[in-house]
Amino acid sequence: MTPERSVDVLVVGAGLAGLHTATLLARRGAEVLLVERRPTLTGAVRTTGIFVRKTLDDFALPPECLGPPIRRVVLYPPHRRRPVDLVSDRDEFRVGDMGPLYLAAARDAADAGVRIALGTRCAGRRDGAWLLERPDGPLRVRARFVVGADGARSAVARDLGLDRNRHLLVGAEEVVPVSPGAEPPTFHCVLDPSLAPGYLAWVVDDGQHAHVGVAGYAARFPDGLRAALDRFAASAPGLRGPRRPGDVERRGGPIPVGGLLRRIGCLDGLLVGDAAGAVSPLTAGGLDPCLRLSEHAADVLGEALRTGRRDVLAGYDGAALRARFRGRLLLRHGLAAVRTPAMAAAAFPLLRTPPGRRAARRVLFGDRSFPTPAPVASGRRAAGVSAPSR
Ligand SMILES: Cc1cc2nc3c(=O)[nH]c(=O)nc-3n(C[C@H](O)[C@H](O)[C@H](O)COP(=O)(O)OP(=O)(O)OC[C@H]3O[C@@H](n4cnc5c(N)ncnc54)[C@H](O)[C@@H]3O)c2cc1C
Repeated sequence: MTPERSVDVLVVGAGLAGLHTATLLARRGAEVLLVERRPTLTGAVRTTGIFVRKTLDDFALPPECLGPPIRRVVLYPPHRRRPVDLVSDRDEFRVGDMGPLYLAAARDAADAGVRIALGTRCAGRRDGAWLLERPDGPLRVRARFVVGADGARSAVARDLGLDRNRHLLVGAEEVVPVSPGAEPPTFHCVLDPSLAPGYLAWVVDDGQHAHVGVAGYAARFPDGLRAALDRFAASAPGLRGPRRPGDVERRGGPIPVGGLLRRIGCLDGLLVGDAAGAVSPLTAGGLDPCLRLSEHAADVLGEALRTGRRDVLAGYDGAALRARFRGRLLLRHGLAAVRTPAMAAAAFPLLRTPPGRRAARRVLFGDRSFPTPAPVASGRRAAGVSAPSR
């Protein structure tokens, strides 16, 4: 007979969204079990880890897990000639050292009382309980609420009958350690649909690590994502020296860019992070949205647990928040329509004009972040290390 236990909240997935939501809920006194199918939090990382200024301003991320500030972005057309060089007078980005950063978040979670089970896969709901596959055998968990923090292809969304991501890019990158160079830390972006169909290829070198990557629509990579990455890495701008195979860390994964999903909550639970589609359709940035939506999720679930009223979850409304993504969704459609290098090259002169540069600066250096959801009924905010620091 499969053993069974009960918890207040079962959180599925220990990416940044799951770790943050679990911590905030445990700090509110909830009994939280966080399950992650990967055996370690430092393996199979699915992000470059670029944190934008708004996140760095509003959340207390451990400084020792962040690379040097980046102020410079260079945008290249397919032929790489006459790039647009944009420099901000503020620190715009820092790249997270993601392994240590996930471990620090897991320590915060454990300190708050979250029970973390690694190497544990949630295999769906059967007869009112969630079935977990663990190294030491199956376990059935009855949870008052479940949080789907299980990424872009969320199975919890399916089990709860909620919306699922349909519009996805795929991204892959390689990371190598580097020493500080002569150039200031720089984010190089190449807009070339033959390398990165519908999105972009990048090199980020902050003087500690160099990341080289490509992302685009899977069906439009003629010979696959891996081949596109190798092709780009062979002549990528801003990439210093040859990479020694032993030093290279490979990362990758799907990126939902269809905007926040409409139905992300029901009486039994809710979705956070990529599972909820909380990614900017334009920049494909999901780290800021996943932290902010997790705070809202913890507010809503905290209130539901406190009052015993499941209907509080009706306030977790993707459709209401989604409306504020309209402009970014439109621009994403524009980007998706650029299908040939000739089209990208023809559009590029616009970026060199003063209005084009202003628009690029607004997207790259602007103050916008994931929309702030309306407070839940009681209006109380969650407390925590990663809560707004000012
Ligand atoms: C190549 C790439 C580069 C990116 N770069 C950036 C960037 O620089 N800046 C930025 O802001 N955003 C970036 N993004 C997007 C950003 O990384 C994501 O939006 C963010 O990491 C999502 O976090 P999450 O916790 O929702 O999901 P994830 O980090 O995907 O976590 C989901 C977790 O759930 C686990 N899981 C799944 N199913 C189960 C199951 N059944 N049982 C147990 N566990 C399960 C998975 O193993 C995983 O650990 C990038 C994405 C990609 C793919």
